[in-house]
Amino acid sequence: MQIELRVCQHCLDGDHGNDRRTEVINDMVACAERIKEYKEVIDLDAVHIRKVREDEPGKPASLPVVAASIQDNQVALNDLQLVTKGQDGNMLMYVDPQDILTVLAGNVDEISKAVPGDITVDLSPTGAEMISDADLGARGPQTSQESQ
Ligand SMILES: [Zn+2]
Repeated sequence: MQIELRVCQHCLDGDHGNDRRTEVINDMVACAERIKEYKEVIDLDAVHIRKVREDEPGKPASLPVVAASIQDNQVALNDLQLVTKGQDGNMLMYVDPQDILTVLAGNVDEISKAVPGDITVDLSPTGAEMISDADLGARGPQTSQESQ
């Protein structure tokens, strides 16, 4: 399996004026870098982190697919997505930030169970909150019963 994370360099640097987005994108890149470092542990063939800028075309590094939308009658390429390509050749694309961070953090979690020592990534408060929301969604009914 291969994965490719596509992020906006300007958001990563905090130059696009959205602090929450900057935090979450830095979390995503930190997770992807950790996964890249330990990719053999979870049988990944490659991890690509593609940082796109406004002044270049934004061609993918390895997995040739980019989500797009129409803005002001023009095609705009998505600058945040995660693509995975499995052994069967199918590619899955995630564009929702919560989904992207959940998938990446899930991989880090899997690695942390398989290697000695602490390899976890310190997520920003925004990123951590996003993941705990996702957890809650998956176990919705149980969680609400427990809290009653
Ligand atoms: Zn941006």
